Amino acid sequence: MNDSRVHVRTAIEALPAYVPGARIPVGAAAYKVSSNENPYPPLPSVLAVIADAAHDINRYPDMSNSEISHKLADFLNRTASPAALHKGEISAHNIVFGTGSVAVLSHILSAVVDEGDEVVFPWRSFEAYPIVVSVAGGRSVPVPLASHGKIDLQAMRAAVTERTKAVLVCTPNNPTGPAVTHSEVMDFLAHMPRNVLVVLDEAYLEFVRMDDSLDALAALAQYPNVVVLRTFSKAYGLAGLRVGYAVARPRIASAVRAASTPFGVNLIAQHAVVASLDAVHELAERVDALVVERARLLRGLREQGWDVPDSQANFVWLELGERTASIAEQCTSRGLLVRPFAGEGIRVSVGEPEATDLFLELARGWL
Ligand SMILES: *Cc1c(COP(=O)(O)O)cnc(C)c1O
Repeated sequence: MNDSRVHVRTAIEALPAYVPGARIPVGAAAYKVSSNENPYPPLPSVLAVIADAAHDINRYPDMSNSEISHKLADFLNRTASPAALHKGEISAHNIVFGTGSVAVLSHILSAVVDEGDEVVFPWRSFEAYPIVVSVAGGRSVPVPLASHGKIDLQAMRAAVTERTKAVLVCTPNNPTGPAVTHSEVMDFLAHMPRNVLVVLDEAYLEFVRMDDSLDALAALAQYPNVVVLRTFSKAYGLAGLRVGYAVARPRIASAVRAASTPFGVNLIAQHAVVASLDAVHELAERVDALVVERARLLRGLREQGWDVPDSQANFVWLELGERTASIAEQCTSRGLLVRPFAGEGIRVSVGEPEATDLFLELARGWL
């Protein structure tokens, strides 16, 4: 068939294709450590609720995500620090759900970016950033990372102009791993113009174990131009169901809601969120085990002599330059699916202990 002559926006035609993590071929024995997924199967309690919810899929989901918003608000208030609660509790008005936090981010940008406005973000970082900025009609302003894969908040602050509408702070940074501290973020916010929206993307929040770790809800309590972005895809193990959310001041939250796809979060996902929030303690044990496994992976690499950035997430970053593609192929041939970034390095998610063993065995040969 001939190509249609319909006009497609230049910004869309220029988009790079999103590179998904490799998939395991059917029937192959392999470890998929390419997409930062949770290697554990769903909890039986969550699976049971999902199976039960399937009986109702002839009905639309709750369009306003009312039950999950109240449930989540309750959870956030119960677990929040005094600094976060100091200016009042989180309510459902502060929460916006979407089909993964990538979709929520896209809706956030649709709500605040006019054609040609600038959005500042670190780079290398989450590869969806330049895509969602272009789709919203904005202009990407990527700011190089500082040494050891850490995002450079000072350089990002310097990159803000009158045209800047939003700044994306990815912490821990995907794919390199380091997180910024609470003090660093508060200092950054203190110097940020109040009309610039600062998105704190905490997709890996649950894996952070460091001093002075970011208290994003406390930052939101102090600064009305903050949006906190979180997901059920990683620590909660619901990547396949697509649920993420933002926490913001009510005016921002309602703007993002207005820009969102109606009935986005499906009925099964809504039930799974409720069941997962009822099982946070069980899920936290799995996260703890992954944090232990992460330490083993980092230690193993460092003992071999690799200079690996600190990781506060469920993945590690190995800088390999020109050897990246061939090393990734070697991993695949050995049944280990990693995520290569051509010419830069590979990202390896923390998965099964067997995957760690195999990766360490392979990495020894690349030095
Ligand atoms: C994985 C990830 C997300 C979340 O993805 P969803 O599955 O869409 O919720 C968001 N930000 C970063 C930095 C990520 O790595």
